[in-house]
Amino acid sequence: MITGKTRLIGLLGWPVGHSISPAMHNAAAAALGLDWAYVPLPVRPEALPSALGGLAALGFRGVNVTVPHKTAVLPYLDAVYPVAQAIGAANTIAIGDGQLTGFNTDWSGFLADLEENEVDVRGRDCVVLGAGGAARAVVYALARNGARVTILARREEQAEQLAGDLSEGAPVPVAAGSLARVVEVVRAARRPLLVNATPLGMAGGTYAGLSPWPDAPLPADAFVYDLLYNPPLTPLLHAARAAGCGHANGLGMLVNQAAEAFELWTSRRPDRAVMRRAAEAVEAQP
Ligand code: NAP
Repeated sequence: MITGKTRLIGLLGWPVGHSISPAMHNAAAAALGLDWAYVPLPVRPEALPSALGGLAALGFRGVNVTVPHKTAVLPYLDAVYPVAQAIGAANTIAIGDGQLTGFNTDWSGFLADLEENEVDVRGRDCVVLGAGGAARAVVYALARNGARVTILARREEQAEQLAGDLSEGAPVPVAAGSLARVVEVVRAARRPLLVNATPLGMAGGTYAGLSPWPDAPLPADAFVYDLLYNPPLTPLLHAARAAGCGHANGLGMLVNQAAEAFELWTSRRPDRAVMRRAAEAVEAQP
């Protein structure tokens, strides 16, 4: 039950109606017996500055930030953690003493899920498809951990820009190319990790049934990670399974980034299995 003592956290995005974050966070708080409530906060882009300005006044302890605000929030924050600054996006804001501090837990949530899937990235050839916000966090995670990363995007100049930005501080410079070269680049790699950071394959809209990988066999020694989790088996992951490749969808990344944000706000370690079950229950709804 929400009372005057309930501590508020939430999700800033547009739209946020279909988000599974409220289910994950509220389940985590309930399991720990915490009087915290996580609410969706639909904020249009033009209202972002006033929404951010009001969060501390309304007593919020923190928020997650999602599309399309992850980069747009940065100039309005009182402090931004260096990692979020380097990635160029914040997906989590902690609020204390009226100050808003930006963090990024997408990159570490992604790495944590790779670890759970026993995928070692050091020295590995990694091919990231797409060069948007999620790709920024993924490339940061891989490049800073010693992977050899190539970004392929339909707009090659976008891939080059991202590679340039994220090569700074990486042991191996990040390469870039056109998405049209995906088969050639993946087949030339040894034990590649192929990551889909485009919306191709996402259920329920114009991307449903599509794949960033053409109708060709995947190398069996590849591990394929799709950031999408709805449907659980995208066309790309179907191809991975057919080729006998290791594969995973993005639900584990979503759970891990949420768990890290939850811990930043509450200083309590949530039960990730509880969060995952809550997410899966929402995903299973028609
Ligand atoms: P974004 O910033 O819009 O970037 C999407 C990227 O995909 C851009 O490079 C875009 O190219 C490219 N793209 C879009 N349509 C394409 C097409 N038809 N063919 C080839 N490339 C295309 O989105 P984002 O925030 O990076 O998110 C990407 C996906 O990751 C989303 O579907 C999101 O649901 C998922 N995601 C999952 C998690 C998780 O925790 N599992 C976290 C974050 C994001 P243009 O710029 O040319 O359009």
